[in-house]
Amino acid sequence: MKPVDLHTHSTASDGTDSPGDLVARAAAAGLGCIALTDHDSVAGVPEAVAAGAALGLPVVRGCEISASTEYGEMHILGLWLPEHAPELNELLTEMRLGRERRNRIMLARLNELGLEIGMDDLASDASESIGRPHIARALLAKGYVGSIGEAFRLYLVKGRPAWEPRRLPKPAAVVELMARLGACVSLAHPFLIRCPAPWLERQVAMLRERGLCAIEAWHSEHNGAQVEQAVSLARRYGLRLTGGSDYHGANKPAVRLGACGSGEIPGEIMDGLRDFAVRQTR
Ligand code: AMP
Ligand code: FE
Ligand code: FE
Ligand code: ZN
Repeated sequence: MKPVDLHTHSTASDGTDSPGDLVARAAAAGLGCIALTDHDSVAGVPEAVAAGAALGLPVVRGCEISASTEYGEMHILGLWLPEHAPELNELLTEMRLGRERRNRIMLARLNELGLEIGMDDLASDASESIGRPHIARALLAKGYVGSIGEAFRLYLVKGRPAWEPRRLPKPAAVVELMARLGACVSLAHPFLIRCPAPWLERQVAMLRERGLCAIEAWHSEHNGAQVEQAVSLARRYGLRLTGGSDYHGANKPAVRLGACGSGEIPGEIMDGLRDFAVRQTR
């Protein structure tokens, strides 16, 4: 069975491949299905779906939304989103306005340090949803840092001079909204949350009541043991399994489409998601 990838980013948010290029790359890599899950945006979806149709590769409409918890950010994926979803668009717009406000503050801080970067340096690409990776790329392009990773380490993470938090919704609100739309709501990369295991388990139990459908067990930053833990967690709570590389193109050069820490993302996960997949093709 061909591997799949249900978590990818394009130039509509903080990836570096256009939606069309991303889909072409996935087809060339021999993947069986791909989801476009940009942060706070579905702007890349029509181009991706059209490219997929031309290449015979199913493309899932998706997005990724960050929520706030006592242990930092929790990321939630909506997969098989409906085409018409005014309530979702309202939330995505609000999230992007929050980003814009934060970007202005972060740039002002960098300017104070003598690093000359303006809003125009961030938005030169097709991006609708602009975040810290855009600032990192601008710092790299101007020669202020030697890599994207260095830009984050020196300036953009909590505790560093340009850091500014973002006001985020609660996980339950995001899950409920996506579930109301009939989407497959999946808890993204659960092991990137630095939290005690019992807390994570309580969150999963609580979010399941709000409409959580799946757990992203396979992810480029999950090791084999974590994949197994995620599978076991999903089984205990009657949740399905998803997997994605979290591909960002050149912004995360080590991440390959269809690949995760323990190898390939198994195409077999699609068996458990067939009811969603069937609906999209209607
Ligand atoms: P933002 O959504 O603006 O808060 O930025 C978070 C995004 O930055 C994540 O989704 C990652 O894509 C990226 N990111 C976070 N930390 C790093 C890092 N150390 N190196 C490269 N990309 C990072
Ligand atoms: Fe990202
Ligand atoms: Fe994420
Ligand atoms: Zn992601």
